Amino acid sequence: MIPSDGRTAGIDAFTRAWTRVVTGQTVLRHSREEVYALLERFARRLAEALHAEPFAAAPGRQLGADLVAAGIATPELLGGTTMLIGRRFLADVRMLRPDARARLDELLGAVATGFTGALIDQTVAAQEALRRAELAKRTLTVRTHTVPRNRDALLRQLGDALEGHPRRRLGLCLINLDRFRTVNESLGYRSGDQVLGTVAHRLDRLARTAGHFAAHLDNDTFVLLVADTTGPDEVTKAADEALAAIAHTFPINNGYNLPIGASVGVVEQAAADTDPAALLGAAEQALAWAKRERRGHWMVYDPERAAEESARHALSAEMPDALTRGEFVVEYQPLVDLATGHLAGAEALVRWRHPVHGVIMPGRFIDLAEHTGLIVPLGEDVLRRACVQAAAWHAADPDRPMFVSVNVAEAQLRRPGLPAMVRAILDETGLPEGLLHLEVTENVLLDPEGLGTLDDLARMGVRISLDDFGTGNCRLAEISNLPVHTIKIAGCFAGYLKGRHAADGPDHTVLTAMIKLGRDLGLAVTVEGIETEAQRRRLLELGCDTGQGYHLGRPAPAEHITERLTTS
Ligand code: C2E
Ligand code: MG
Ligand code: MG
Repeated sequence: MIPSDGRTAGIDAFTRAWTRVVTGQTVLRHSREEVYALLERFARRLAEALHAEPFAAAPGRQLGADLVAAGIATPELLGGTTMLIGRRFLADVRMLRPDARARLDELLGAVATGFTGALIDQTVAAQEALRRAELAKRTLTVRTHTVPRNRDALLRQLGDALEGHPRRRLGLCLINLDRFRTVNESLGYRSGDQVLGTVAHRLDRLARTAGHFAAHLDNDTFVLLVADTTGPDEVTKAADEALAAIAHTFPINNGYNLPIGASVGVVEQAAADTDPAALLGAAEQALAWAKRERRGHWMVYDPERAAEESARHALSAEMPDALTRGEFVVEYQPLVDLATGHLAGAEALVRWRHPVHGVIMPGRFIDLAEHTGLIVPLGEDVLRRACVQAAAWHAADPDRPMFVSVNVAEAQLRRPGLPAMVRAILDETGLPEGLLHLEVTENVLLDPEGLGTLDDLARMGVRISLDDFGTGNCRLAEISNLPVHTIKIAGCFAGYLKGRHAADGPDHTVLTAMIKLGRDLGLAVTVEGIETEAQRRRLLELGCDTGQGYHLGRPAPAEHITERLTTS
């Protein structure tokens, strides 16, 4: 223990400084002497808690709550207070133990928790009083409800607001702080609590002046309810105001100004068209879009987009079963020697024969499969089928080699074991390594792991094609050092040879340069999307080996290729 005399002198010095902070920031209805007396009691309690054996942070909570009760009840005051305590309290009360700073930090954390908790309760109490008063007058307006503390309470409030008012329109702003977790993680929960307290306070003030209703939904999510709207503009205006209010700086414990942003999901609907859960759900969905696509701004709920997303979600949920039921089938599109017109190979393209929706093209489900990871088993399935088929073509006419080209997704390459799986499939089917081409995108080359896998595959004798070449960000000059044998120039470039682009505009120059560079580097060059005879001829002149496109053959079941092989 330190001598109490020394502590008393220190507490006096500290309390005088604290009094200056508090009287400088508020219009408390107390004289400076009264404030001093009040704060001195707090300072003593803090010193006692700090020195207590065993040490416990819990009394800090009560201290925080009592500060609010005593009228020191704004987040700014809490900020000034914790800053002052952090800066000089230990020295003032001559707390010299090695764990002094750690104890103080813990204690201040508890003070902040107690403080914000009490502040919210106080707002609840204030609004509850208002609600009773208003109810007594029998004028039901949404703003008069209490602050709900969670989702269920908010749903009940919305229910009240909607009931019996089918013609009423209303809007919700669901507000979520951006990167709030980083605040907690890097600056501590104490600062996090301070930020939440401040945001709650600012939104509450905004709601009161604008006649809306604000609530703290949970953790770092807040809600603003705008009643009796005439359209979405009114709600997005409220969202703008909320964002502006939050965007003010946050003075936290050591005077550091924290930049805090938020994203907002906005929904505005007629009461007749919705119910509380649907309204909140819509706002949540819009918030998720904002988080993904327009962080720091608001986005308005769009029912069409939501329907589209839920259909996609349903589709992606069906995929695993569809795979085991064998609903994914493979079609083959000819890859044609541009000079002779002979089949050089075929690209395997997957389709989903859906029992209800009919044939679904890969553009609608490949990205879903990539997202869920189903692309790995699906890709293996396609690869096996394609190899079985190619081995059959090869066995039928071993003197005329015909390769099969299979698309491989990034996720497949990142998984270890792809080379071993390919090896096993080649052994199973008896397909010569050189007759399997794997199509990858340029992005794969930027990933060292993917590149290692490609090296292994190339060493095995499998050939690698760069699919959709020219649409990614790969420098052609670098390809010469990479395990790549073929570039497949994306269909859009062939389009430049059509119609009014046929002349030699800048796009045409790019295409010509790509073909020439590919040839100079010793790569095979294929162009996709050939739809006319004029394109075929021009590409042949430019030095292209093979081509793919509707003019040369559409994707079709394997029998079409088999037939073409036997008749030519
Ligand atoms: P891709 O690998 O670039 O395949 C070529 C796409 O262009 C195919 O679309 C094909 O039908 C289409 N196409 C061919 N010729 C023409 C033409 O002359 N004009 C036009 N406008 N289009 C033409 P599809 O079958 O819808 O496949 C789309 C994409 O889905 C493929 O693009 C590929 O990236 C992906 N995909 C298809 N099957 C698989 C697979 O088994 N695994 C993976 N990972 N992706 C696949
Ligand atoms: Mg492809
Ligand atoms: Mg392609």
